[in-house]
Amino acid sequence: MENNRHVVVLGAGYTGMYAAIRLAHRTRRTGVRITLVNPSVRFTERLRLHQIAAGHTLADHRIADLVAGTNITFVQGKAIAIDPEGHSLAVDDGTLLDYDTLVYALGSATDTSLVPGADVHAFTLNGLEAAARFHDRLRELTAGDTVTVCGGGLTGVEAAAEIAEARPDLNVTLISTTEPGSMMGEKARAYLHRSLDRLGVTVAAGRRVAKVLPDAVELETGERVESDACLWTAGVKVSPLARESGVTVDDRGLIVVDAALRSVSHPDIHVIGDAAAIRLAWGELHGTCQSGLPTAQHTADTIARLVRGKQAKPFRFGYYHQPISLGRRDAVIGFTHADESPRRIYLKGRAAVVYKEMVSSSPVKMFKLSKRMNVSATVSKGGRATRRP
Ligand SMILES: Cc1cc2nc3c(=O)[nH]c(=O)nc-3n(C[C@H](O)[C@H](O)[C@H](O)COP(=O)(O)OP(=O)(O)OC[C@H]3O[C@@H](n4cnc5c(N)ncnc54)[C@H](O)[C@@H]3O)c2cc1C
Repeated sequence: MENNRHVVVLGAGYTGMYAAIRLAHRTRRTGVRITLVNPSVRFTERLRLHQIAAGHTLADHRIADLVAGTNITFVQGKAIAIDPEGHSLAVDDGTLLDYDTLVYALGSATDTSLVPGADVHAFTLNGLEAAARFHDRLRELTAGDTVTVCGGGLTGVEAAAEIAEARPDLNVTLISTTEPGSMMGEKARAYLHRSLDRLGVTVAAGRRVAKVLPDAVELETGERVESDACLWTAGVKVSPLARESGVTVDDRGLIVVDAALRSVSHPDIHVIGDAAAIRLAWGELHGTCQSGLPTAQHTADTIARLVRGKQAKPFRFGYYHQPISLGRRDAVIGFTHADESPRRIYLKGRAAVVYKEMVSSSPVKMFKLSKRMNVSATVSKGGRATRRP
């Protein structure tokens, strides 16, 4: 059995936390050392950032507390360079870390470079501070003021509903190129629209934002939508670190991985969560916690296998749900096939609220339990749909 391998986990978001803690438990008798690097001392519950925008206070989960009792060393800092050939990386406080194995879990953020003005005039949910800044802006608004939410994906829908529920005095418009909930089954989608309607959200579907101005959003048609506060939720960007370090990435900057989630150019780098370009038999995964946690589990298990001299196994995963909160008092959960195509069954109302809360609270519970036992985050391996050809 190999001893003294140093595993550095970059990023303590959902996937980095889970990978580090699960790996610590799985290798506790092997002498493997684990270092976890993250800019903030607080664990960010990204799934709940729209709640901050609406004025809720989230639990303050400290990373050091979450990993207490394990052999994980937490380093507060931001990785600024990786030398994949030399197996080392630099942290912004000047620390240099050598690694034998790197777990790259830097996540993703909303891309405000897609249209002019979004980076200057729009708010985002890119982290706790950004969400708090948006909330501060909302607090300045008075009855009748307008809020635009650009992007009708899950984040946009959840944010629009949350704001409209918390501030029924504001006029909230959700602007989207696609129909919000378009990936859901017919009945779940209809419920989502009824709920947005009940909350007073104006849905402007089939519209593309061309520009964000200080007091309005300009559409491609030239139409102006008044906007005292604009929230940008469309598009995804990832850290440039991998590209800049010479690790093979795709055209979006996501690291290209093999079947076991290792970088194709540097197999000592395992990639998990939103930062990985993962292709299964039916297509590409897109960044969700639902798929990210299983990638973290797989990688922790892969590294534990390699430490024991065993072979890595291919990653398999199937989607099973699309949980969407619609404020604090309503939600809709669409159930899916492994390739994320919708099933007919769905949950709505109170039952869906309870289900969604269970989804949002389960990662932190899982981190705590994983210190003592192997807890699985994988609900579905996808059956035939995700088997590789
Ligand atoms: C409002 C909102 C609601 C969502 N709801 C859902 C949902 O209901 N279901 C679902 O499945 N998904 C949901 N998602 C998506 C989900 O949050 C992401 O897919 C998930 O967080 C990805 O996990 P991750 O570990 O890859 O990245 P993250 O959780 O983003 O973690 C990345 C970590 O890396 C750190 N980091 C970044 N750069 C560096 C660096 N240079 N050095 C060191 N550390 C660094 C970051 O600070 C962060 O802590 C939602 C997202 C948002 C914004």
